[in-house]
Amino acid sequence: MDERTYDIAIIGGGPAGLTAALYAGRSKVRSVLLEGKAPGGQLLNTELIEDYPGFKSITGGDLAVNMTEQATHFGADLVIAQVNRIRVEPDGMKVIETDEGDWRAPAVIVTAGGNPRKLDVPGEEEYAGRGVSYCAVCDGAFFQGEHLAVVGGGDAAVEEAIFLTRYATKVSIIHRRAEFRAQPILLEEARENPKIEFIVDTVVDAIVGDESGRVTHMKLVNCKTGEAWDYTVGGVFIFVGFIPNTQLVDGHVDHDAGGYYTTDPMTMMTSIHGLFAAGDVRSQLTRQVTTAVGDATTATIAASKWVEEWRKGRADVAMEVLESASREGGWVA
Ligand code: NAP
Repeated sequence: MDERTYDIAIIGGGPAGLTAALYAGRSKVRSVLLEGKAPGGQLLNTELIEDYPGFKSITGGDLAVNMTEQATHFGADLVIAQVNRIRVEPDGMKVIETDEGDWRAPAVIVTAGGNPRKLDVPGEEEYAGRGVSYCAVCDGAFFQGEHLAVVGGGDAAVEEAIFLTRYATKVSIIHRRAEFRAQPILLEEARENPKIEFIVDTVVDAIVGDESGRVTHMKLVNCKTGEAWDYTVGGVFIFVGFIPNTQLVDGHVDHDAGGYYTTDPMTMMTSIHGLFAAGDVRSQLTRQVTTAVGDATTATIAASKWVEEWRKGRADVAMEVLESASREGGWVA
């Protein structure tokens, strides 16, 4: 094997990628984790994590550092390189093309996460970074003493609205329906917070600013009554979901309507043999740090078994091994 050929390549350094690197390292499988920026993924945009077992409360930054240290301690190579494309050669070898050259591995675990979905309304792009934000932890402190709007009705919107009350005088959660996807415990906390108000059945038509380039107000419309009004705010935080980074693979990979990879539940393998997925790129009920690390554990153990067979020159046997494990109730590792 040359120095850029590995058994397993892991794409993306969030909690899923770092867990995959940890498990690969501990299994003595030669692995490389390729990450475009600093490892940590969305942990780096999260102030406090209170739902990761073992830590009653830990900052996202600290958890990212701990996970990175643990992953590299067990021998995974960590490379900072932006992955542009993954292509599959006829024998099943995967070539990972990056700005820093190519890496090769028969098994690839995609843990590339995703990016915030945009509202796609006038003013959103124009005022991005000047009053429009997608990261409360990164930008919240710039809005001390302001009235802020948070758009969305999922966990991220409600959690970040609560976080923003540290700085804002008032936070208005603007949601297009009256029902929320957010967990009840988060909603309850938000409802009990005197700084938070809810504006439901309402969509944003435009984000408007002044000559100084700052956001001054939003144009809102009630979806039920059609009533339209201007709503004065000092900043708009948008949390309307997530677009998974599943466009890296050259060729078709089965996915759901949201673009998330559908995977075998027992092994996390995608429709391409030897291509596994874990974390926020995977189609599933919910996306938590805990589910990301769980997916990645399974994917890495399955990938290690798959590589073992593939290296013997029997990709078909590799598949049979995984399928029989699925039939027989899985492995006990
Ligand atoms: P999400 O759960 O998909 O929620 C997106 C929200 O944005 C929904 O309320 C949706 O409205 C709304 N929305 C979507 N497009 C919109 C548009 N064009 N205009 C207005 N509103 C729009 O996304 P998320 O909150 O980013 O969470 C993503 C995943 O991460 C979820 O699985 C979540 O559980 C997880 N997460 C967990 C935590 C935690 O547990 N602490 C924190 C953050 C995120 P509808 O409801 O009407 O579709």
